[in-house]
This record gives sequence, structure tokens and C-alpha cells, in this order.
Amino acid sequence: MKTLRLILGDQLNAKHSWFHKNDKNIIYVLAEMRQETDYVKHHIQKVVAFFLSMRNFYSTILALGHQAVYFQITDPDNPQDLEKIIAACIQKYDIKKFEYLLPDEYRLDEQLKTICANLKIASGVFDTEHFYTTRHELSDFFEGKKLLLMENFYRTMRKKHHLLMDGSTPVGNQWNFDADNRKKYKGEVPVPSEKNFHKNASEVASQIQEAGIITFGNITETDFSWPTSREECLEVLDYFCRNLLKHFGDYEDAMHTDEKFLFHSRLSFAMNSKMLSPKEVLETVIAFYHKNESEISISQVEGFVRQILGWREYIRGIYWKEMPNYAQLNALENHNKLPNFFWTGKTKMNCMSHAINQSLDEAYAHHIQRLMVIGNFTLLTQINPDEVDAWYLGVYIDAIEWVEMPNTRGMSQYADGGIIATKPYVSSGSYINKMSNNCAKCHYNVKEKFGDKACPFNTLYWNFLDEKKEYFKGNQRMGMMLNLLKKMDPEELYKIKVKANAIIEDMDSL
Ligand code: FAD
Repeated sequence: MKTLRLILGDQLNAKHSWFHKNDKNIIYVLAEMRQETDYVKHHIQKVVAFFLSMRNFYSTILALGHQAVYFQITDPDNPQDLEKIIAACIQKYDIKKFEYLLPDEYRLDEQLKTICANLKIASGVFDTEHFYTTRHELSDFFEGKKLLLMENFYRTMRKKHHLLMDGSTPVGNQWNFDADNRKKYKGEVPVPSEKNFHKNASEVASQIQEAGIITFGNITETDFSWPTSREECLEVLDYFCRNLLKHFGDYEDAMHTDEKFLFHSRLSFAMNSKMLSPKEVLETVIAFYHKNESEISISQVEGFVRQILGWREYIRGIYWKEMPNYAQLNALENHNKLPNFFWTGKTKMNCMSHAINQSLDEAYAHHIQRLMVIGNFTLLTQINPDEVDAWYLGVYIDAIEWVEMPNTRGMSQYADGGIIATKPYVSSGSYINKMSNNCAKCHYNVKEKFGDKACPFNTLYWNFLDEKKEYFKGNQRMGMMLNLLKKMDPEELYKIKVKANAIIEDMDSL
């Protein structure tokens, strides 16, 4: 039976069982679509990376002997919309059956279900064979539980998938080495430069412009760094094992003004596009560790395994457990607007300037920059989580809603009222000072709370606690901070609040 099989831009899994054998009756379709480029304003590097990866994937499956069609964004016959593309292919190739892979986004899942319901031909859906867990495994795991603790889920996954296990004991006799993963980086060991592919992306960048797609952020078209084929992704993985793994855990939470990537893997795009599977990433990293145990400590490797087997799968499970309501949550009722400097990078706050300019230049910031600098700022200034979500979804190379939204709206903005985080990730400037060298050269003074030069994070932090004290009064983990707030000199608190309100009124003057 003549069958059409859809491959979405984040389903570039060449190892999928679909491709194990050739069948002349199967036609694969990949399409660059305005539907996907326009649902949010994306960073130019993100659109370039997806289009280049899709084009490479198309070449790969053709080389494997499969039949496939590809719509480029500027093709005159490209309908730019999923339903129309499927309809056009069904008619052109006299298709009798339509098949697709489970999308990871709720939006596309719903759309494809509707498309299939309206088709006059048979349809079928297959697993992407990418994740360790099924969509609803986390819901089943936490059934009847009030607290959805990542750590419990992670330990069960370690046992179930036999990763870093010695029989039933965790390797190193400890499940979690989080406490060892919080070093400040002071240049003790050199940071190898990132693996850069120095590709020429001018052609695709011009096509994006020609098509009229509105993007933001910066790109050096002739020196594009991201991996856009499976082979390149494997090179990034190998580079990580050989050069970065041995210090990954130590400096996982560190920030440094001279080092954009520190010891982070930069593998999120490779995995989120499914060019690499989390299984092959973890198996490769663990095998490398076992071969090099004299040089690499367990705390480096466990930290990495926890991010992928723990956080990545957990976040995906939360998304499918909570959608579609999750997208509307705004538990703290924050309604302020995002300042303009999120698009220009122009601010005198050194930490924000570095994190935002890096995001605009590289389409990348690491976890602590996203959580404890940018996200901390948007939460303290009580920005509407819809705006925060849209910015994060647009700016990062790895941002796909299933992983972006629970991290941003949930973990970082506490808009889910504590489904993911047991307390809000907010801090004054002292945390940023402890974990980075940003404060030393900042226009603002990290020791001050309300003067002209006071670090805005300090002013905003105490104001936030005061504004939200009713909401958090029953939260034990907030008890210590709320007690400190209670003991604060009322006059000092008054000055802080006046200053915080002035900041919130005019964030672009920061
Ligand atoms: P590394 O530090 O090398 O970590 C290795 C891998 O672990 C990552 O590639 C990623 O796949 C996984 N990982 C680590 N933390 C998380 C996490 N919290 N959730 C899911 N996977 C994780 N990650 C995305 O992939 N897409 C996003 O849109 C995204 N948005 C985020 C928004 C906020 C506010 C925060 C706090 C985090 C977000 N993350 C997101 C998680 C994390 O910041 C990125 O996965 C990481 O920075 C990617 O860089 P890396 O590959 O060098 O990661």
C-alpha cells in the first residue's frame, strides 16, 4: 500500500526502525514551513540549525535508498502548512495510508490527530524511539503522590536502565553528587574552546530572509558553529568525553565572563533534534568514564547522567502530565512586561549583560545563566510568564516547547505553583557573586540593597519576598528567608520597596 510518512524537524533519528528496511511503497516527507518558523519569533541560528539538519537528514535517507520529498522554505509549491503539505503529497503520489511519529509538542500532537481524523485514507502513529520513558511513564510513577520529586524518579530510572549501577548499588555508593558540583571557576584548569564546525550557512540564511521570516539574534553566516548532521553530533559527543567530562560536574553551576560554555556539553540541540539519542549519549559517556576512571571522578559523570536520565526525562513527563493547562499557569499572578534589553542586550548589570548578549550571539546559555541570572531577574521583576516563555522558546537553539516550558514556566518562574520546584529559584546578588566573577566589574554594587548603585538583584529580591510573603507563608523551605524579612528594619524595607518599584517601572534604565 502506498504510504506517506511524515518526519518533523525535531525527529531526525536515522536509527529509527522505520529506516531499517527499504520499501518502494513508502515516501517520506520533510518540510520547512512558515507554520513552524512563525509560532514564536526564533533566533536566526535556531532556524538555520533546524533547516540545515533537516536537509542533511533528507540526504542521509536518500543515500540509504529511501524515497523522500523535501520542501524548502522558498520552494514556490511549498504550502507552508502541515495539513496542506500532507494533502498535496497524498494527491500527488496517490497515497493510501498516512503515518507519523508521536510529536513531542502538544500543539503538533493535536494538529496531527485532527488532520488524521479528517483524512479519507487510513493513518497510523509510531513512537519516536528516542526517550528512555514513554509519554505517561512519569504520571504513572507519581500516581497518587503530592510531591513529584525528581530525585525519586531519577533513582528508579538508574535502577531500571542499569546506568552507573553496581548490582543494586549506585557506582560510588552514592546516588547523587550534587554537593560536589558547585565550584566557582577561577581559572584553575584551562577551558578547551568549544567544538565549532565553522560552516558556511549563508545560503540557508539568505533563504530565510528571502522568505520574509522575522528572526532575532546574531549569526556569523560564514562561521556557523552548531552540529547539523549526525556525524557532527557524534564529534561533539566525542569532544565532550575527551575534553570536558573530567571537569563537567565540578563547574556545572559556575559562570565566568570569559567563558561562555565552560565544561558544558552543548549536546542539547543534537538530542532535541533526535540526531543523537539520550541512550547513545549516556552509554558513550559511561563507557568513556570506565576506561578512564583514573582521570575522571564519578561525581563528574553522575552529574551528567542526572541531567539527561533525570532532568530531561522528568521534564518531558511533567509536560505530558500537565498539558494543556500548564501553558496557562501563572500562580504568582505576575503581569509585568519584558524589558527591551532582552532583545538588545543593553544593560549595565554585568551578569545580565553577559547572559543576554551570549544568548543573542550564540543562541545558547547554560543552565545556571538561564535559571539564576535571566530567570531570576524575570521572576523578581514579576514578568508575565507568557512573555518569559516566548523569549526562552525563541532564543535558545535547543528550545522546543516540551522541554522549554516546564523549565521556564515551572522550574524558573514558579508559575506552576510548585509542581516542579519546591521553592522559587530566586536569589539576591550574593549567589551570582558566589558562583561567578560578574560582580567584580559591575556598574552596581553587590553589597548594597537600595542606594543608586545597589545591585538590582538585592533590591528586587527583598521586594519579591515582601510582595509574595502571603503566598509563600506555608512553604517551609521559604521559612528562613521570610523570617529574615520579618526582622528587617521597616525603614530599610520601605527604601528597598520604593527603589524596587522604580526599577520595575523602568527596567530599561538598568
Ligand atoms: P549540559 O549542561 O552539558 O547538560 C547535558 C544535557 O542535560 C543537556 O544537553 C540537556 O539535554 C540535559 N539537561 C540538563 N538540564 C536539563 C533540564 N533542566 N531539562 C532538560 N534537560 C536538561 N533545555 C533544553 O534542551 N531546551 C530548552 O528549551 C531549555 N530551556 C530551559 C529554560 C530554563 C529557564 C532553564 C533553567 C533550563 C532550560 N533548559 C532547556 C535546560 C538546560 O539549561 C539546557 O538543557 C542546557 O543548558 C543545554 O546545554 P548543554 O547541552 O551544554 O547542557
